[in-house]
Amino acid sequence: MRLSCDVEMLSRGLASYGMRAKTKPIRSSISIGRRPGASSSKEGLIFLLVCTAKDRNGTKFKLKGNVEQIFGKFVQNGKATIRLKEPAKDICISKADPLQLKNILSVIKLGHLDRNCDLEKIHLTTLNPAKTSQVERLPTKMVVHSRKDYPVTTNFPKTLESLQIMHCKLKKVDSRILELRNLKCLDLSNNNLAKLPDSVGRLNQLAELKLANNQLDRIPLGLLNSSLKHSLQALDLSGNQFKMLPSQLTEFTNLVHLKVNDNQLLCLPWNMGQLTRLKFFWAGNNKLQFLPYSFTRLALEEVDMFGNGFQGSGMFPSTQDEGYFPSFVEIAARAVKKYRLMYTERDLPRILIQYLGLAKWCLCGKPCFQPYAQHCSQFSLHRVAHTVAGLDSAGSTTAPVQGFLCSKDCWQRLQSNPNAVWKCSRR
Ligand SMILES: [Zn+2]
Repeated sequence: MRLSCDVEMLSRGLASYGMRAKTKPIRSSISIGRRPGASSSKEGLIFLLVCTAKDRNGTKFKLKGNVEQIFGKFVQNGKATIRLKEPAKDICISKADPLQLKNILSVIKLGHLDRNCDLEKIHLTTLNPAKTSQVERLPTKMVVHSRKDYPVTTNFPKTLESLQIMHCKLKKVDSRILELRNLKCLDLSNNNLAKLPDSVGRLNQLAELKLANNQLDRIPLGLLNSSLKHSLQALDLSGNQFKMLPSQLTEFTNLVHLKVNDNQLLCLPWNMGQLTRLKFFWAGNNKLQFLPYSFTRLALEEVDMFGNGFQGSGMFPSTQDEGYFPSFVEIAARAVKKYRLMYTERDLPRILIQYLGLAKWCLCGKPCFQPYAQHCSQFSLHRVAHTVAGLDSAGSTTAPVQGFLCSKDCWQRLQSNPNAVWKCSRR
C-alpha cells in the first residue's frame, strides 16, 4: 500500500519552545508494512514509511499505540495530518489522491489499534525503498499549443494546477481534463468548442476559466449552479457567439475580471450590479443598446465597451394596458425568484428556464419579467471606473442606462421623486 503525496514534517518539540523549523512540503511516498522478512503478523510490528527523493530508503515510524490523532477533515481535498506520539511529529500530507488517502488513513488506524485480524486481510508491503517515479515531483503546469503535442496515449498529470490548450481545434472538452481536481487555471482559448459540459463545475478549485475565441453561445446550468460561483475570479468568454449572458452569472460574486467582448450581446444581465468585486470589464464589439440600471452600482478599475450600438435617452411608459394579467409562465418565474428555488435543466420546462434568464429588477428591488414601465437616462462611465475606453471613434464615455418598474406604484413614485426611489433600489 503506497501513496504519492506532498509531506511536511513538523516537530512539536520545537513548537513548545516557540520555534518553528523552516520546512516545506516534499514530494514523498508513504507506505505501510512490516519489517523486511517479518511477513507474519506475530513476527513484526506495523510501520509507516516515508520516502523522499533524497532519502529513498525512508524514515520508519512505529504505528502500534503511537498515533495521537488523525486530522482528516480535508481528506476530500487530498489533505490530512497524522500526529505521532513518539517522535513528537506531525506528518502533514497534501496533494494526495483523496480515495487512496482515505484508505491509507484507515489502515493507519488499524495499525495503531494493532487490529491484526483486520490487517491480515489487507495487502501490506515489506517497507521497500521507493522508486524514483514515486517520489519525483509531478508538474503543476502544462501548455499545449499544437495538436501534435496533445496527450493522446498518456494521461494529464493529476497534479496540474494550470492547463493551457490552444490551437488544437478541440470540439469538446476532454473528460480527462474534468478529473484534474487541482486545476486553478484552465485556458481552452482558440479552439472550436461549441458546448461546455455541466461537469466543468466539478473543478471546484478553478479561479480562472478562459474560453476566448470558440463557438460557445451558452453556459450550462450545471456550471452556473456549481461551486465555481464562489471560486471563479476571472472569466474570459470573448470572441464567442453569445447573444445574452445568463442572469445566474451575476451570482459569481468573486469575479474580478470579466471579458465578453466580440460577441453578439444585445443586453447585459439586469442584476449585474451584484458583481461587487468586479474590477475589469471588457464588452466591446457587441450590440448593446443600453446598460442595465444596476451597472451604476459597480466600482471598476477599467471598462472597455467600444463599438456597441448605444442609443439615446428618454423616459417612457411601456405599452402595457391597465387590464394586464400576468401569464402562467410569469407567475411561475416570479415564484422561482421569490422563493430562491434551486433548479436544473431537468426540473423546469425549457421555456420557463429561458424566461428566468430574462429577469429584470425594478428599482424597488423586486424581480419582474414583463415590467409595467421602463426608464432611460444618460450615464457617465467615469462615475464607475478609473479608466474608461471611448465608446466610439469620437471618444464618448456616456452611455444610456435602462431601468424597469414593476408596477404602477413604482412608476408613480419615480415620477413624483426620482432620486428617492433610486436610493431605495436594492439591485
Ligand atoms: Zn417595483
